Amino acid sequence: MTAITSTRITQLLLGGMIADAYGVPYEFRPRQAMAKRRMDGYGTYDQPAGSWSDDSSLTLILAANLLENGSLNDLMDKMVTYLDGAYTPMGECFDIGNATRKAIIAYAQGTEPRMAGDRSPAANGNGALMRIAPLAVSLLNEPDSTVRRQVITDTTIVTHGHERSVIASVIYVELLRHLLAGEPLAVSLTAARDAIKDVGFSAQELSYYQWLFTPSFPLLPESDIRSSGYVVDTLEAAVWLNFQPETYPQLVMHAVDLGEDTDTVAQIAATIYCAAHPNVEFPKAWRNDLILPRDIAVLIARFAARFSVGN
Ligand SMILES: [Mg+2]
Repeated sequence: MTAITSTRITQLLLGGMIADAYGVPYEFRPRQAMAKRRMDGYGTYDQPAGSWSDDSSLTLILAANLLENGSLNDLMDKMVTYLDGAYTPMGECFDIGNATRKAIIAYAQGTEPRMAGDRSPAANGNGALMRIAPLAVSLLNEPDSTVRRQVITDTTIVTHGHERSVIASVIYVELLRHLLAGEPLAVSLTAARDAIKDVGFSAQELSYYQWLFTPSFPLLPESDIRSSGYVVDTLEAAVWLNFQPETYPQLVMHAVDLGEDTDTVAQIAATIYCAAHPNVEFPKAWRNDLILPRDIAVLIARFAARFSVGN
């Protein structure tokens, strides 16, 4: 059994949310050093400082779903409410990916959850990857890799039905599980690679992730790292950032400086960072700026209490 404290689970969620909020005003900007140290507001979405976006909202929805029955219908029902502003900092949904929106609408019109996600290769944005981290907590001590893979697959395909998105989700969740178990980043990444090998994924789709697993990947220059909303780019950027010798705030600012999908790259990179660093500290000002409605704070506390192990 891997022990995990409720504090660590809380840090994992908050670390992602803070990074998301830090990145929100800069989404879609080109790559540039911004050298900012405070959490900004407005910018791309004209939201006040501390506003987190779909990345966090959809992550919180999965956490809420796992606290209840974990059914895919319940997960989709909660996503429907997100369109009307549930699970948001200010009661408004200001950011959502195309594939996710389409899937939610398809579900609301009667499509089965497992059929709701677009299965075309063009629908491989990071919309499933951005919300899947709670599974690393709920599946932390699930010993059966087939069961884990099935849960990760089901949770992914409700919005992103293509195999490439499923593979990304498996890599990310398995990486987080191994980090939470105290294994170093390189070792955890190898374990994630082993989790997608010889389990039925097509060689062609696996080849999209070959760069991530080459030994020289951490040494690639920043100019070789893409930070777009394409799921492969986002996962690569988030993992690459974690190989740089940086503190939490340095990592988040670096992610945002990469430009393009700033909030999601920052959120995923920060979640990996928090999984790898049990004693992560957030800048006090950023933590204070984060908009945290009471019901969201309660949800996080309930999730953390429910899935803590051995304390
Ligand atoms: Mg976002």
